[in-house]
Amino acid sequence: MIRQLPQSVVNKIAAGEVIERAASVVKELLENALDAGATRVDVSVEAGGSELVRVADNGRGIPAEELPLAVASHATSKLVNADDLFRVGTLGFRGEALASIAEVSRFLLRSRTGDDSGGAQIEVNGGQSQGVQPCGCPTGTTVEVRQLFFNTPVRRKFLKTAQTEMGHVSEAFTRLALAHPRVSFTLRHNQRAVYDLPPTESWRERIGRFFGPELEQALIGVQSDDGDVQLTGFVAHPSQSRSHPRMQYLFLNGRHIRDRALSHALQEAYRGLLLTGRCPISFLWFSMPPELVDVNVHPTKLEVRFQDGGRLYSQLLGTLRTKFLTTDLNTKLEAKPTSELAAAHDPQRAEQLRQELVDWAKGEMARWEPAGLSSAPAALQPTAAPAGSAVAAAPARRPLEINLLDRSWPETTPRGNQDATHLEATPAAMPVESPTPRAQPAARSSSALQVHNRYLIAEVDEGMVVIDQHALHERILYEQLRVKVLAESLESQSLLVPEPVDLTAPEMAAVLEHRELLARLGVQIEPFGGDTILVRSYPAMLANIRPQEMLRGLVDQLMAGGKTPDRRDLLDELLHMISCKAAIKAGDRLTSEEISALLEQRDLVQDTHHCPHGRPTALVFTREDLDRQFKRT
Ligand code: ADP
Ligand code: MG
Repeated sequence: MIRQLPQSVVNKIAAGEVIERAASVVKELLENALDAGATRVDVSVEAGGSELVRVADNGRGIPAEELPLAVASHATSKLVNADDLFRVGTLGFRGEALASIAEVSRFLLRSRTGDDSGGAQIEVNGGQSQGVQPCGCPTGTTVEVRQLFFNTPVRRKFLKTAQTEMGHVSEAFTRLALAHPRVSFTLRHNQRAVYDLPPTESWRERIGRFFGPELEQALIGVQSDDGDVQLTGFVAHPSQSRSHPRMQYLFLNGRHIRDRALSHALQEAYRGLLLTGRCPISFLWFSMPPELVDVNVHPTKLEVRFQDGGRLYSQLLGTLRTKFLTTDLNTKLEAKPTSELAAAHDPQRAEQLRQELVDWAKGEMARWEPAGLSSAPAALQPTAAPAGSAVAAAPARRPLEINLLDRSWPETTPRGNQDATHLEATPAAMPVESPTPRAQPAARSSSALQVHNRYLIAEVDEGMVVIDQHALHERILYEQLRVKVLAESLESQSLLVPEPVDLTAPEMAAVLEHRELLARLGVQIEPFGGDTILVRSYPAMLANIRPQEMLRGLVDQLMAGGKTPDRRDLLDELLHMISCKAAIKAGDRLTSEEISALLEQRDLVQDTHHCPHGRPTALVFTREDLDRQFKRT
């Protein structure tokens, strides 16, 4: 027997089409806020959205008498007749979102228009309207959706963990906030700020807010216009790619869309530029007359139908190919935006840390200082990591910040440094422990010959030593840091905007398994849905290393060799990272002062035979060897 379904069942079926999970609620409410012309939208979510989604906007509001219509199905202010359906200029138009949401939640909408002196609210419980009441509220609309799917238990059961759901919420938020850079947005989860996005005229800046300065730096602007269709936006330099296509953002007339053909054009444009299995990153924006596209073919409007898809495909592919041909991708590959990265972190905090470190070391020095010595012998670079932020303006390599030796130091020094007496002691010198007897050959003079901008050749008592400048400096920094770290735990710095990092499933499992250990090292992480993890805090001394890079290093350590790494292994990995990043590089030309200081430090720091990675820092050629080679004996 065929029967007409009751309205409540019809509504619940309809709700299922549009509202799949909390993220769908966020998407629909954000779209409404943007359609209402809001310039500020605040989103607040509890328990991944299953307990609460609240979206507050400062848009034009809804008159009190229209509130019942706003939550009625197929009621919209955005379409007048059927023709409008084929030139949609708003994000919403079907008039079913609020009705669907209110059908499957405890729903409250408060609104006030600019003309009204007071606001009004409507409450709907699982589709049952509780009527309209006056209320006080600012101009705009606030919608609260509590206990999603409370009356459809099967659906509620399908919701994943709060973290997974929050991942979807965040993605929905990201898509809309990316599409509307001029609107300021905030997102909070369980009272904690996840995103706080000021309005901006620069799309690049908004993208950077979400995905960090490294990607922002790697963005290549693209643009083309074929009369009907304007394409503008960014693609990432091939040095930035992902193992998945989720960072390919396509927007059409302000709406985020997915389109296989366009994704294919994108992949095609990068052919030969990326390793197999890697996906390009893009933020592309298409504008075209609304009548050239049908947005009414997908329940959540994620997919659209273009009148001339082939033309669009060619336009995208052609634009990118031309861009890549005219861009010198190689030089950009090498350009490391370290200075900007460093500057992106709080420079004041970095300076404060540096100072703390110097003070600490001075204090330590006072304890170690041998009697009779009034000043410390030598100076090492105070952790280059935090100090790095001071160099935002430096064009290339920051000079090796070596504080020169105090030459008034007694002649008791075992190493003759007479050739360097003109050098002045630097007051801000960071002292290190006094010289310990060396098992390795000490350089006889603090001068050396730099060859190929990477090796130093110096005379030692036994003969001659060839030093790898990067490996040595790295080792020196490592030892300094280790002393500091063993004395007290690493300071942790919370990120204002937690950084998402994509991991594979086994990496994810390994990281979560060691979550507490990582937390003790100052690295706070939490799962963020899918295979994404959020880095909430990280060791402050890593100020000029991207949290993402830092986590990657730790993950590699966690995955290496199959054995469970202990705290020391992980700590070591962090120290390696800091020292490697901060050390002078192969290819850096050193001044003679820098060379001397490096050689001095070599004598002062323990265990400089090998860099922290175990590579030798120096090769010694004894005089006997040389004599033998030259057939002198
Ligand atoms: P649609 O967006 O497709 O029109 P909705 O169910 O999402 O359908 O919203 C119904 C109507 O309620 C909208 O057409 C609009 O007039 C009004 N409305 C909903 N949310 C807002 C808001 N945040 N600000 C102003 N008006 C709103
Ligand atoms: Mg809507």
